[in-house]
Amino acid sequence: MSGEAGAAFWAKGDALSALFDVSGAAMALIDLKGGRFRRVNPRGRELLGIDAERARRLRLADFATDAQRAALLDALRGEGRWQDEWAWRRPEGPRIWLQAAICVERRDKDREPTHAVAVLLDVSEHREHLERLRANEDLSMQCQMASGLALFSRDLRTNDVKSSPSALALLGLSAGEERIDFSDALALVLPEDAPQLRQSIDQTLARREKDLRAEFRVRRADDGQLRNIELRARYEYDEDGVPLRSLGVALDVTERKRTEQQLEFAAHHDPLTGLSNRKFFNEQLAAACAQAKQGHWIAVLCLDLDRFKDVNDTLGHPIGDQLLVLVGRRLRAQLRAADKLARLGGDEFAVVQMGLREPEDAGLLARRLVAKLREPFVLDGQRVAIGVSVGVAVAPRDGSQAQDLLKAADLALYEAKAQPNRGWRYFEPKMNAQAKARYELESDLRRALEAREFELYYQPMLDAPDFRVIKFEALIRWRHPVRGLLSPDSFIPACEQNGMICEIGDWVLQQACADAATWPHEIGVAVNVSPVQLASGDLHASVAAALEASRLRADRLEIEITETSLLHDAEANFEALRKVKALGVRVAMDDFGIGYASLGYLQSFPFDKVKIDRSFTRDVAVSTQGAAKVKAMLDLCAAFDLATTIEGVETQAQLETLARLGGTRVQGFLFSPPRPADCVPEMIERFGGAASPPAAG
Ligand code: C2E
Ligand code: CA
Ligand code: CA
Repeated sequence: MSGEAGAAFWAKGDALSALFDVSGAAMALIDLKGGRFRRVNPRGRELLGIDAERARRLRLADFATDAQRAALLDALRGEGRWQDEWAWRRPEGPRIWLQAAICVERRDKDREPTHAVAVLLDVSEHREHLERLRANEDLSMQCQMASGLALFSRDLRTNDVKSSPSALALLGLSAGEERIDFSDALALVLPEDAPQLRQSIDQTLARREKDLRAEFRVRRADDGQLRNIELRARYEYDEDGVPLRSLGVALDVTERKRTEQQLEFAAHHDPLTGLSNRKFFNEQLAAACAQAKQGHWIAVLCLDLDRFKDVNDTLGHPIGDQLLVLVGRRLRAQLRAADKLARLGGDEFAVVQMGLREPEDAGLLARRLVAKLREPFVLDGQRVAIGVSVGVAVAPRDGSQAQDLLKAADLALYEAKAQPNRGWRYFEPKMNAQAKARYELESDLRRALEAREFELYYQPMLDAPDFRVIKFEALIRWRHPVRGLLSPDSFIPACEQNGMICEIGDWVLQQACADAATWPHEIGVAVNVSPVQLASGDLHASVAAALEASRLRADRLEIEITETSLLHDAEANFEALRKVKALGVRVAMDDFGIGYASLGYLQSFPFDKVKIDRSFTRDVAVSTQGAAKVKAMLDLCAAFDLATTIEGVETQAQLETLARLGGTRVQGFLFSPPRPADCVPEMIERFGGAASPPAAG
């Protein structure tokens, strides 16, 4: 009945019009624009109890409320159909309920509905049934009361609240209090939660809504216990919308709430220390940043413990865990209640310092944290000294977004780590550029490894009496496409910092072993190993792999480890060296004499050789004191039955003095600088192979 066909429908005498007139269903045609009824069929007039004259004056507003009219137009514009119930009072007789089903009959050129047809049905009886049912609900209430559910019913006219036995128990009310005033019931609700509950109820009533769902806490009348309640209530109104009563079911959700809270806590906290975890810290930081934007200073401090790994490795993980807990407490004690503290993972902590008076407050806090964590901890009866490095970023000076601040604090931490004595650093904008340079160097190194830009140079070590070569030391070079040939001092420290040294070190081991396998059997190869490789825990595996791949006899390989690199966590380092030595590989102490624990190390690990640092060689021929130092070191090594090599021999005079002092093995520019691998045969030719037992010395 839409579109052009509808036009005919209005013409008297046409087929559809005839149908309209004789239909047993009550029908009406509605002019939507005018809000008027255009035609009501005979059955319709009968239903409404009106004559044709009255029918012509019917308005839509005679049936539908404003809200209903708005909903009707909305529905017709969209779906094209609408259904609801209208109340209608016959001019003579009672009020009846009409179910009206209406659909669009015609639209204008903008598709806006202009006319609709309504089919009306008398549903009064059906409604009456419902009313009767409602009256009987008191009975059903009785049944439900006995069911064990905590039920409340409230008479909205008298404000009497009736409670089932379970509801009484839930609220801690006694048996005589089944019937109490609503205000007394509300008084049991926790004062913090009461206003919200009252507002929800008022809103439900004001909007004539049927359902309410609310959560609140009550304090039980008898034992004062707090319980979490979830209430689901249904509200009833009479035809005129006057509230009659409500029926509510209350659930005690205390346990569920507690579990939820525990889950919530676990999701946001570190189980070991109970501090915020990284995820929660990020949220807290974001919230703090919002505050900083309103003109407050805040600071982010990133903390990383020093020597924590040593504690873990030497005293065991349970003690390490204990230490982290104590660190958390010690940090917390230095903070104000509003400051946030988190453990981000491992031995990393972070602080958001709130409400700074000036940016310098952050530095003061950082200094205090550094000092406090330097004080020894007592764990399991032992004094344990660690330390902490702190990077500081201040908002809004160093950024106003959480992630920017965290990154800034992290860059500052990186710099702080590089100077462990100072302990803390503020972020400086130049650190961004430095980080970028580090990142670029790292990708440059990776590319170099793939493009085979690293090379090994070899420098001979000679046996003094006849200066025959007994070993070559492998020394890495980087043939950089732009910067030319680079010496290790210009890139090895960076590799140690970013961890690339392990990959590069593996390559050096592989290449040096492969090269040495092509040399005469009596000549060995020495490879420098970084402390980072030593600490990585799988040096022995790398060494074994290199030997295996090259089929080089294990005792032709010697690894050189600097004395200073043993300093941190000497025990773990010795353990790593023992595993290497167990492969049959020789271990030499490099740069001997410039550290300060040399003697102790000689006692605690069976080194095969000591290389006396070239700084001593420089002085040996110029001062008697210089000569005495070298003599002392040579005597010491002799006492430990250790072979020695003296590095950095540059002049004949040095060589002669050393010979007098008893130095038998030497290395230095006097004989040869480090030279490319393909020069090795020429150097062997020049100095001759070793006559002494293979690879000894
Ligand atoms: P180092 O182990 O003490 O190596 C000896 C250094 O002294 C070499 O410097 C060598 O060229 C230099 N040298 C040799 N004879 C003389 C001399 O008569 N006078 C003077 N003044 N110097 C001499 P280079 O090759 O620049 O290596 C520097 C350092 O880089 C090495 O010191 C070593 O610690 C490190 N390094 C070299 N290659 C590697 C490597 O493959 N891995 C690791 N981890 N470190 C390496
Ligand atoms: Ca060396
Ligand atoms: Ca050295």
